[in-house]
Amino acid sequence: MFLDTKAMRHLTAEDWKVLAAVEQGTKNHELVPTPLIEKLSRLRGGASGVHRAISTLAKNGLIGKMKEAKYDGYRLTYGGLDYLALHTHSQRRHVYSVGSRIGVGKESDIMIVADETGTQRVLKIHRLGRISFRTVKSNRDYLRKNRTGSWQYLSRLAATKEFAFMQALEDAGFTVPHPIGHSRHTIVMTLIDAPPLRQISSVPDSAALYSELIELLLRLARHGLIHGDFNEFNILIKEDKTPSSTPDAEPTTALTPVLIDFPQMVSMDHPNAEMYFDRDVACIKTFFLRRFHFTPTKPGPFYADARKTVGKDGARRLDAALEASGFTKTMAKDLEAAIRDQQEAVASKGGDEAGSDFDDEDGEDDEEEGEEEEGSGDGEEEPSVVIIGGSQDASKDSLL
Ligand code: ADP
Ligand code: MG
Repeated sequence: MFLDTKAMRHLTAEDWKVLAAVEQGTKNHELVPTPLIEKLSRLRGGASGVHRAISTLAKNGLIGKMKEAKYDGYRLTYGGLDYLALHTHSQRRHVYSVGSRIGVGKESDIMIVADETGTQRVLKIHRLGRISFRTVKSNRDYLRKNRTGSWQYLSRLAATKEFAFMQALEDAGFTVPHPIGHSRHTIVMTLIDAPPLRQISSVPDSAALYSELIELLLRLARHGLIHGDFNEFNILIKEDKTPSSTPDAEPTTALTPVLIDFPQMVSMDHPNAEMYFDRDVACIKTFFLRRFHFTPTKPGPFYADARKTVGKDGARRLDAALEASGFTKTMAKDLEAAIRDQQEAVASKGGDEAGSDFDDEDGEDDEEEGEEEEGSGDGEEEPSVVIIGGSQDASKDSLL
């Protein structure tokens, strides 16, 4: 599925209240009983208003029933969660309109959005569990509860972690997108006008860029962190041209790497830190050899050496940043296990192609009734820009 914002402006204030009530009820109920939805939504009009809203929300696939449910109730779908998150970004004035999708990652959708002034931004929607897990024998704790609820929970964790690290890294002076807002399983950040390293076919000085990337990796290590997915898709290369002082000389070009994608970051103290560190180093080496035919003269860097530099040169440890933001050890473990499973699933499906080969988010044992799933496949037309924010003079009811 991907974000379909068509219905957004048509939802009334009541619809939003009822949608929020289903979300609230989902904390304790896999399927939120209809009487509880009525209670939580606190609509003045009473039950009939709630039923009308339920019907609108179900028709738009924002809430769904479950097959063989033992009682009358609804649960929040991924679409419903998307709407609630966008509603929040819109109320905070971080997002006014939603444009096209620029990326479908293994674990996310990347959308171009804009604020009221037309400044473009990026909305990252985390979608853990999109890829089928049938290939992975998994009986993890995080799947203990219902599948849909768990995946929504995990996607929220991924966004929370990513936002916390983006802030911490920016504060420490790293070049990352500026984190603007976080709601549920989504993040709004600045749009970086630069291609990923993957798209760069040649560079003036591959040795210099290689050194810079290794230095970036070592700098993270000094702050107690390993990126964990330090590859050519997650490093954007910004090109800054400085005109030369003499008219005949070529302008000088400075390449600045911008690091993105942080849900899988791990601490240098992690039991498998060495494996993650070595894997990040190997990723860059392999890419530089393949793309630029560049082989470094020096071996390494090695984890053991990097380990000794943690906290040195005045580097503040950032690996505790997450816990400081209320992220518990259990949450960290749940997310880590899910990301590992996801990566294994991708690997077993053959790398790049796996991204487009995903299941409906609700899985096979949790089918929907009354959900519109048409238009949720790949390869269909992307929506053009959709305004989701209300202007001052718009009717109050359709305001988001
Ligand atoms: P995933 O976790 O799915 O890999 P990423 O955060 O790596 O998601 O984003 C996927 C792709 O979207 C990136 O490779 C990059 O091309 C693009 N992208 C993500 N964030 C930004 C941004 N702030 N500015 C520009 N492009 C971005
Ligand atoms: Mg990525």
